[in-house]
Amino acid sequence: MNRTEELIYKLRDTHSLSLEEYKTLITGRTPESASLLAALALVEKQKIYGNDVYVRGLIEVSNICRNDCLYCGIRGSNKNCDRYRLTGEDILECCREGYALGFRTFVMQGGEDGSFSDAFLTGLIRKIKENHPDCAVTLSLGERSRESYAALKEAGADRYLLRHETADKEHYEKLHPANLSFDNRMRCLRDLKELGYQVGCGFMVGSPYQTDAMLAKDLKFVETFRPDMCGIGPFIPHKDTPFRDHPAGSVELTLYLLSILRLIHPPLLLPATTALGTLEENGREKGILCGANVVMPNLSPASVRKKYMLYDNKLSDGAESAQSLDSLRKRMESIGCTISAVRGDIIK
Ligand code: SAH
Repeated sequence: MNRTEELIYKLRDTHSLSLEEYKTLITGRTPESASLLAALALVEKQKIYGNDVYVRGLIEVSNICRNDCLYCGIRGSNKNCDRYRLTGEDILECCREGYALGFRTFVMQGGEDGSFSDAFLTGLIRKIKENHPDCAVTLSLGERSRESYAALKEAGADRYLLRHETADKEHYEKLHPANLSFDNRMRCLRDLKELGYQVGCGFMVGSPYQTDAMLAKDLKFVETFRPDMCGIGPFIPHKDTPFRDHPAGSVELTLYLLSILRLIHPPLLLPATTALGTLEENGREKGILCGANVVMPNLSPASVRKKYMLYDNKLSDGAESAQSLDSLRKRMESIGCTISAVRGDIIK
């Protein structure tokens, strides 16, 4: 057995490696070690989730954003972004449509749009819960105060997705403007957890200036923070951002990291992300076969879908759209998986 294989078995048996070992595991990967890792990840996933794949209806509520993250296509300073904001009624209509299609989780994601006050959001969350008491509400609306997170939880929000983006402070500062801080991002994640949300963190793979040592830190962070979810996808450049000339991240490395994450924390909810499907035709299926167990089809109104362009060529039609759930179902069945019409909470 070579060193990489030893580390893979050690990770499976102990769910923990040192920073140095994570780095060796990443740097020393080969097609053979990737296959072994994926096979072990699938076994762990199946023990908990069988062949079920959970779906979430993703509603992109606004592309208006006060922030200016250097990688993101909807950053505030992008003058070429055609801005929109859904109304409460638009969002409720998306939920109605999603419910009829079989979705039992609604994810409201958006830029940090100042008009999403606590009063507006708490009213909306209560309404969604009243209309669909059997559904989970997930928020992904960026950094807010602890008081705000508490109010949204109190109104009925179940989960919150806030990718940490990178667990390396210096790297964080290279990806974000000076007014955003690594410490506040981490404060948000801790608050969300303490308030009782099911919490999702996550990071981009192949973001500018990222090294294997930084990815090792991301893995260590997931190991110690123990989130319920972790969203990872390849970085993809957007033409109107400072990172336009940086290369996209690799599908192969993203898949390898999905398998590692499954072994770090076997119950983790791990989406096969849109970015993965954007870079490769069968990216989502490959993600599922490497250990992911969630897909998040787009439930936004068709008229705004092309406007939520986080990166170039972001998919929003075909199997990516909630309306094509049947096509997604077939794709999943072709790899032996079943789309499950449940809320899809983490099984601990
Ligand atoms: N404003 C919210 C939602 C951000 S969009 C928040 O701050 O959490 C959701 C995720 O898309 C981001 O967390 C980021 O990891 C990812 N993303 C943004 N730009 C991207 C790009 N160019 N390539 C790949 N992923 C990107």
